[in-house]
Amino acid sequence: MEFDNLYSKTELKHIVNNDLFENMLNHAYLLCGQDEVLLNYLAKQFAKHVLCSGGGCGACPTCNKIEKGVHSDVLVYPKDIKKGLVVEDVSEIVEKAYVQPMEAHKKIFILNNFDISTSQAQNKLLKTLEEPPVSSMFILTSTNPSNILNTIKSRSKTVNIPLLDGNQVETFILHNSNLKLREAKLYVSSSQGNLTKALKIVNDSDFIKIKELCFNIALKLNSSGEILRYSSKVIEYKDRVQEILDELSLILLDILYVKSNLPNRVLNTDKINDYNASNFSVKALKLVYGKVLEAQNKLKSNCNINAVVDGFLIGMLEVKHKWK
Ligand SMILES: [Zn+2]
Repeated sequence: MEFDNLYSKTELKHIVNNDLFENMLNHAYLLCGQDEVLLNYLAKQFAKHVLCSGGGCGACPTCNKIEKGVHSDVLVYPKDIKKGLVVEDVSEIVEKAYVQPMEAHKKIFILNNFDISTSQAQNKLLKTLEEPPVSSMFILTSTNPSNILNTIKSRSKTVNIPLLDGNQVETFILHNSNLKLREAKLYVSSSQGNLTKALKIVNDSDFIKIKELCFNIALKLNSSGEILRYSSKVIEYKDRVQEILDELSLILLDILYVKSNLPNRVLNTDKINDYNASNFSVKALKLVYGKVLEAQNKLKSNCNINAVVDGFLIGMLEVKHKWK
C-alpha cells in the first residue's frame, strides 16, 4: 500500500465524494480523531480532492503545490502550530477569505489543531463561518473537540477519523524514516495505530532501550534478588515511568494473547516464542495487568516514584509465583 493511498481508504473520501457529487460541499468541515499527524495529513488530501481535476491524483501541478504548501489558494494555519490560531491569524484569514481565489475555483483554509486556538480567535472566526464567502471553505482538525466553541462545531460538518491499522502505520514509518522493516515493526507495535506516536518514538533515541527493558521485566525478572537492579533501571527514566508502564501493559497483553491461544492479536510477533516460554499463567497475567493500572494511578496522584516502581515489581513477582 502506498502512503498516498491512505486517504482513498478513509470514510472521509466517501463523504467528500458524495458532497462533491451532490454539489453540497459544506463551507466548513471538522476532522476529529486522536492522531494529530493523520488529521493534518488528511486535511491536505481533502484539499487536493476538492481542487484537483483528477479528484486528488497526487501527481498533477495542483496536487504537487498543495503537497509542498505553495498553492496560492490553499492556506494552512496556525502560523505557530504549537501556539495555535491567534487573533492576528484570524484577521488575516478573514481578509483573505473575501478575496477571490487566484488559480483554483475555491480558496481552502486548513486550520490545524483548531482546539488549541484561543477563544478570542475562535470567536473572531465565527462570523466568517456563519456567513462564509461562496468561494472559500474551511477544514479544521482537532484531537480535542471539547475545546472548540459549540457555535463553531454547529457550523461545521464533523467527520470522525479512526486510528489506522498496523500495516498502515508500518508503511508510514518505512516512508518517513531510514528504518529497515524489522526495526520498523518494533515501533509499529508500540504506536497503537497512531502516526503521531509512531513519529515521536522513531525520533526518540531511548525508545528501543526502554522497550528492551520492558521485555526483560516481563520475561526475565524471576527472583526478588533482581528487583533492585530492574527498579534502578526504570528509575533511570524517571520522567517516563508512565510510558514504561504503558509499554509493559502492551507486552503483558501480548503474553496473555499467546497463553490464551489468540496469537493473531499479538503485537510483537517476533517475540511469540519467548512469550510461550514465559512462566506466567493466564490468571497471573490478568492480575499483573491490574497492577500496572494501579501503579499508573498512583503516579497520577503523585505518589513517590521509587516506591511505586518497587511496589509494582515486588507485586508482579509475588503474583507470578503464587499463580504459576
Ligand atoms: Zn492532482
